[in-house]
Amino acid sequence: MRPAEGQAWHDRSVRKDEGAATTSAELRAHNLARLLRAVHDGGGQLTRAQLTRQLSLARGTATVLVRDLAGRQLIEELSSPAGTPAGLKAPRTRGRPTGVPSAHPRGPVALAIDLRDDSFTMAAFELTGRCTVLDRQEREAVSGTGMLADVATRLKGHRRQFGDRVIGVGVAVPSPVSAGQMVQPTLPDWQDVEVAGILGADDGDEGLAGLVLAGNDATLAGLAEARRGVLRGVPVALHLHVATGIGGVLLSGGVPVPGAHGSAGEFGHMPLTGGSEPCRCGSVGCWELDAGARGLLRAVGQPEEGDRMVRAEQVIAAAATDPGCGQTVERVAEALGRGIGALVNAQDPEAVGLSGLAAEVYQAAPGAVQAGYLATLMRFRRPEPPALLPSTLGDLGALTGASELVFDAFLTARGLGRWPAPEEKTA
Ligand SMILES: [Zn+2]
Repeated sequence: MRPAEGQAWHDRSVRKDEGAATTSAELRAHNLARLLRAVHDGGGQLTRAQLTRQLSLARGTATVLVRDLAGRQLIEELSSPAGTPAGLKAPRTRGRPTGVPSAHPRGPVALAIDLRDDSFTMAAFELTGRCTVLDRQEREAVSGTGMLADVATRLKGHRRQFGDRVIGVGVAVPSPVSAGQMVQPTLPDWQDVEVAGILGADDGDEGLAGLVLAGNDATLAGLAEARRGVLRGVPVALHLHVATGIGGVLLSGGVPVPGAHGSAGEFGHMPLTGGSEPCRCGSVGCWELDAGARGLLRAVGQPEEGDRMVRAEQVIAAAATDPGCGQTVERVAEALGRGIGALVNAQDPEAVGLSGLAAEVYQAAPGAVQAGYLATLMRFRRPEPPALLPSTLGDLGALTGASELVFDAFLTARGLGRWPAPEEKTA
């Protein structure tokens, strides 16, 4: 399997497949992709009858398509839904029971990596979104190059384990990504590194050339919420992911609005709280100086280096018992809310997802976040402010988003065309 290089949700060619069917073979390929996409989006919880209705297919057509997908080991029809993935409700069945198209035991696998400056996690995602964590490594945040070499070795091992079932590798990286490169990473030796090129370097049969897609971690956390989390079904949504800094994404119809170079959503580097101090990014008065991990640590007089996230979480955890920490968290929560209000004024979303520290700060001090939020919202928005929705995906947000990047490239007529027939498979 060798998807074209750089194919991703921000690549318009991926979605060009849709609506372009002219011959009956193309129409069939188009419908197979639609059906498989619907199985994926529904988390393997929808019956064949429900999928048939959702896609407005004739019952006979759906039966033939399901048989075809099953014959190609893309799905397996079960008599009842397999375990319900996080964030999805099991469906209520109406009328005559039909089978439930689900992940095939030899079906497609998206490998996903959540790369951070002090750790990485690898996981395998089945078609229906079921996730198995394969590897979790904590490391000293010293050598980005060393960490990437370690990731590459382990990745090749997992690629061998799943063989031809691997449809791609999604990588969430802690940097804005522009033209595939980490343009402002947290580790100096990651500057301008093209992660997809390094991890995809081809060295034989287990090579991953052309299979690796990278995206910004906060953008992918938002993509995950739109597909599997609190922003599912929200037509226009804003997502904010707070870690050391603050990133996020605007999503329209579940698809990120990536900007001209793929690096939109650096909301932490906007002067939303009125400061004027210089920021590490090169700008001044950035929001992340007052909100997020940096804001928290600055406010309690701790250094902004080292294990920032751990210490920021300790401050939040101590807020209920330590008045000093409590005041700090309130102040940061208010700054978070003020920034959110400004962004809602600008972007007009229907809901705002919060993940990472944003969810933790919101849960610790919801009143302060709401106060800041309402203070900066324009008057006409205040009677019905867009809901603030803390993530339910926890640590799996960026990983899940990385897997969605891979599935978005695969679940098209063109992507499925590269899936090997059962007799051609090596694993
Ligand atoms: Zn900045």
